[in-house]
Amino acid sequence: MTAGRYAPSPSGDLHVGNLRTAVLAWLFARSTSRPLLLRYEDLDASRTVTGSDRRQREDLEAVGISFDAEPLYQSQRSRVYDDAVAQLRQRGLVYECFCTRREIQEAPRAPHAPPGAYPGTCRQLSPDQRRRRAAQRRPALRLRAEVDEYTVTDRLLGQITAAVDDVVLVRNDGTAAYNLAAVVDDQLTGVDQVVRADDLADSAPRQAYLRELLYGAEAARAVEYAHVPLVVNAEGRRLAKRDGAVTLEQLAEQQVTAEQVRDRLLVSLGLPPGPLPQALEAFDPAALPAEPWVWSL
Ligand code: GLU
Repeated sequence: MTAGRYAPSPSGDLHVGNLRTAVLAWLFARSTSRPLLLRYEDLDASRTVTGSDRRQREDLEAVGISFDAEPLYQSQRSRVYDDAVAQLRQRGLVYECFCTRREIQEAPRAPHAPPGAYPGTCRQLSPDQRRRRAAQRRPALRLRAEVDEYTVTDRLLGQITAAVDDVVLVRNDGTAAYNLAAVVDDQLTGVDQVVRADDLADSAPRQAYLRELLYGAEAARAVEYAHVPLVVNAEGRRLAKRDGAVTLEQLAEQQVTAEQVRDRLLVSLGLPPGPLPQALEAFDPAALPAEPWVWSL
């Protein structure tokens, strides 16, 4: 099995930056004869906006992106995530973590520890300490990582080496964490091509490491990554909803059609405007612009 995927969080309408990434996911998949899958990353119920899954899909279709299977909803897949955690647990690779965000920020850490990495506070709790903490707080589950860093190869960025820390596998409200869910879903749906915005490039090594632990080195090595440049606003910051008219609905109010948006996205990628299948003929990953694209209306 082999596939590409687009994996939005249904937390509101897609903006032109999200649509551009989706166009690239489509181009990469189609140009390598892979089906493209749609996966809604809706594990964080507090961020999910009812109906935005349908709106996102309509907007993707409006710019010409079609998918080859019914969408997957992560919120309906706790069984497969539980199975993966059980497998790691059996191998002694899971531990309970009682730290609050604040405790993690304030904990002493090794001088060269990468910023934001978990300092390992709960790794070696004695049974007694664990009991005491468990009386006060529900634990998250963390991976007992056995490496400090890991390297993947990216079609656009070359080698990406990044820190692997003891990532959260299950949050303390019991839901699977992003990295675990993404890795399990990618594997079980045959995804071997990951195209997404380059602000997630540093997640690729830890996801590949987790994939290796769960499914073997060959499965981890088989994944092709392409982390694509972000779309930014006039100040050079990652495009956001507050940056004016950035969704198809808002742009329609300014008399900009979905076809015009598609054409602007394609031109920004150095591709001819028009229907996506036509752009596909001219698509060459090596010729993609490497800089962020500045959006302005
Ligand atoms: N759900 C993530 C996002 O919307 C994408 C995660 C991924 O592609 O791995 O930014």
